[in-house]
Amino acid sequence: MIDIVIIGAGMSGIACARALRIAGAPVRLIDKGRGIGGRMATRRAAVSGNSITFDHGAQYLDQTEDAASIAALGQEVVDRWSLADGTSRIVGVPTMAALPKALANGLNITLNTRVRTLRTCGDLYEIETDAGRMTASHVVITVPAPQLASILGETNAIVQQASSAVMLPCLTLMAAFIPDTPASFVTKRDVNPVLSWIAQNNTKPGRSKAYQTWVAQAHPDWSTTNIDVDRSEIKAQMLDLLCSELGVHPTKLCYADLQGWRYGLVEKPLGKSFVKHGTLWAGGDWCCGTKVQDAWQSGTDIATNVLRTLELSSSLRSEVAIQRW
Ligand SMILES: Cc1cc2nc3c(=O)[nH]c(=O)nc-3n(C[C@H](O)[C@H](O)[C@H](O)COP(=O)(O)OP(=O)(O)OC[C@H]3O[C@@H](n4cnc5c(N)ncnc54)[C@H](O)[C@@H]3O)c2cc1C
Repeated sequence: MIDIVIIGAGMSGIACARALRIAGAPVRLIDKGRGIGGRMATRRAAVSGNSITFDHGAQYLDQTEDAASIAALGQEVVDRWSLADGTSRIVGVPTMAALPKALANGLNITLNTRVRTLRTCGDLYEIETDAGRMTASHVVITVPAPQLASILGETNAIVQQASSAVMLPCLTLMAAFIPDTPASFVTKRDVNPVLSWIAQNNTKPGRSKAYQTWVAQAHPDWSTTNIDVDRSEIKAQMLDLLCSELGVHPTKLCYADLQGWRYGLVEKPLGKSFVKHGTLWAGGDWCCGTKVQDAWQSGTDIATNVLRTLELSSSLRSEVAIQRW
């Protein structure tokens, strides 16, 4: 019996599951997260009874043909974010996480379930999760490359191949200030030796204007050095730098939090859209690029390959049946 399990419900896993479902293949997704979308993520917070959000993962989709074609699949939850230089980017509304959520509509997804290990068991795979065991005939893993080893073991052929992809941490600060705080810019890149990107989150369409909300990302090398340093210390350092960059007095601060993406950004991709061993595939942005559209491409290419494998095995089965008959 065919039973396909996809580990990871980020953009790559969703792309793969959608393509398989369209082809009529039975597919289940499992994710350890509380929500759908992986690094295309949104943090929600309550400040004095107001709900505010921060896109603390992917900031936007590029204005490229491949990114726009993903946005077109969820056109009811995307809009244009106008930047001060007259350009615009595609964003999810009311949050970035709205897009993966819409794209995953109707898929069979189990959240809050971490996959611990995966072992072959005859022709099947045995998947051990923190909620129990399950089996599958075909498995697609779309977790960040460095996290494959904990599921498959260091010596696994897929882990070995994926090890040439490099992913780096990204420490990300979220901060909200009182609404009438003066703001001299919407986004800023390569701000100083620590901060690589600052964006005024509430200027994106559909966001609450109750507070002035900012997302600030640290450079990958600074994030690598500091990923294991005490989070309150890092938060204070990044906050000081953000306030001085904005020219805002810290007393105007209403909320601040820090997200440490340990495997946040792809530094060096693998150079091909997935890795495969038998009926086990692994993919994600780290295969062919650094962005959402690369994750989507990897998932889509895996689905095509899974379907080809299924076709081959079914024609092999009918050949054997004819010979026996
Ligand atoms: C701070 C930041 C900013 C970014 N900005 C942009 C941007 O502006 N534009 C852009 O295009 N891209 C951006 N990116 C990159 C973009 O977010 C990624 O390329 C894309 O979301 C990756 O999708 P994915 O499906 O490959 O991986 P992920 O989104 O990482 O999905 C993997 C999933 O696997 C799950 N998982 C992991 N381990 C297990 C396990 N053991 N068991 C079960 N589930 C597991 C995770 O919970 C996750 O949901 C940014 C990334 C970060 C971190």
